[in-house]
Amino acid sequence: MDAEIIAVGSELLTVGRLDTNSLYLTGELNNLGVEVVTKCVVGDDLARLTDAVRRAFSRSGIVILSGGLGPTEDDLTREAVAQALDRKLIFHADISDALEQRFARSGRRMSEINKRQAYVIEGAEVLPNDRGTAPGQWIAAHGAVAMLLPGPPHELKAMFEQQCLPRLTQFVPRQAIRTVFLRITGMPESDLDALISPVYKKYQNPVTTILAANGDLQVHLRARCDTDAEAIALLAEVAGPIEALLGDRLYSRIGDPLEVVVGNLLRERGATVAVAESCTGGMLGARFTATPGSSEYFVGGFITYSNALKRDLLGVPASTLEQFGAVSSQTAEAMAQGARERTGATCAISITGIAGPDGGSEDKPVGLVYIGIADAAGVVVTQRRFLGDRERIRVFTTQHALDLLRRRLQGLL
Ligand code: AMP
Ligand code: MG
Repeated sequence: MDAEIIAVGSELLTVGRLDTNSLYLTGELNNLGVEVVTKCVVGDDLARLTDAVRRAFSRSGIVILSGGLGPTEDDLTREAVAQALDRKLIFHADISDALEQRFARSGRRMSEINKRQAYVIEGAEVLPNDRGTAPGQWIAAHGAVAMLLPGPPHELKAMFEQQCLPRLTQFVPRQAIRTVFLRITGMPESDLDALISPVYKKYQNPVTTILAANGDLQVHLRARCDTDAEAIALLAEVAGPIEALLGDRLYSRIGDPLEVVVGNLLRERGATVAVAESCTGGMLGARFTATPGSSEYFVGGFITYSNALKRDLLGVPASTLEQFGAVSSQTAEAMAQGARERTGATCAISITGIAGPDGGSEDKPVGLVYIGIADAAGVVVTQRRFLGDRERIRVFTTQHALDLLRRRLQGLL
C-alpha cells in the first residue's frame, strides 16, 4: 500500500521553515511497510490545496495532510478536503463546547473564530487533540483513507501515534521493508551505473537508488515483501551479483562511512595511524576524529603547510624540498615516513598537493596531489590529479587517502 503526504502552510514554502512532519510520518509509515510515493508542500491557497487533495485521492491508498487546521482564515485544510470529496462541513456543538471549556480552564474566553475548528467533514471521524485546539479528522473515501493532522509537530506526533497508527495497522497489509546500503569509492557515478545496472534493472523490487557526493558513492536497495525473510532473501539475490561486480571498490555493506571502515580495520589489527597534511590542512584528521572512539587508533598528526615545518616537524630533507619541490612523490614519502617515526604510530598518511586555484604550473597543475602511506613494510606513494574547485580537490584527496589506507590494511595495495 502506498501513501502520499501533503504538508500545508505557506511558511513551509519559505526558507525559514522546514517541513519536518513529513519526515516523521515517512519513518512511521515505513515501519508499517507502507511506502511514501509522493509528498508535496502546498501554501495556504484553497484552489491549489483542493486540487492536490483530489489528485492524492485518485492515486494513493493513504493520504496524510499536515497543518492548516488552525482557527484563522488561512487554515483551509478542512474546506479543501470537503470540496475535493464533494462533502459538507458539519458543525459539531460538542467540539465547540469542549474547546470553550479548554479555554475556560486556562482562564480565557474562546474567540468566535475558534468555532471554525468545530467543523467536521461529513462522514469523518474526529481525532481528539489533547495537546492543542485543532482536532484531527479521519475519513474513508474513494477506496482511500485520509488523515487531517495538526501542524505543530508535537501535536501531530501524539495524534498520529495514539489515534492513526492503531487504525492503520488494522487494514494495512503487513509488509516488510528492508534496505541494503552499499558504499563504494574510486569510480565515477556513471561507471558505477554502467557496471551494475544490468543486474538491478531486472528488478522492480527492490528499488535501486544510486547517490553520489564527494567521491563517495552509495547504492541503496530497498525491498518490500510480505515477510522479513522474503525481503532478506530477495535482497541477497540482487545484492550478491552487484557486490561481485564491485569487487574491492565496495568498502561497506552496511552504510558505514569510509573513515569508520578504516577505523575498524585499524582497531581489529591493533594498529594506529598518524597524518601529515599539507594542502588538506587538517581535513583528514578531522574526518578520523569525527568518529566517536577514534582515540583508540588515531594518534594525531601534523599540519605542515610551509616547507619550514615539513622540514622541522617531519624531517623532510631540505635537499628533497629543493630538488623535487613540496609537491612531489619524494616529499610525500619523506612526510609519511617522518610522521610515522615521530609519532610511533603503526602507519602514517601524508598528503601534499596543489589545491588551487593558483599555484599550478604546466608540469605541476592544480589538482595534482601525492599521497603517501607508510607502515612497517615501507612507504607507497600514489599520484593523483583531481579536477574542480579548491574544496572539491581537498575533499577528494581525503577520500582517496582513506581509501589507500583501507587497501593497504586489506592487503590490496
Ligand atoms: P498550522 O496547523 O498550519 O496552523 O501550523 C501550526 C504550526 O505548525 C506552525 O508554526 C507551523 O510552522 C508548524 N508546522 C506546520 N506544518 C509543519 C510541517 N509540515 N513541519 C513542521 N512544522 C509544521
Ligand atoms: Mg498553517
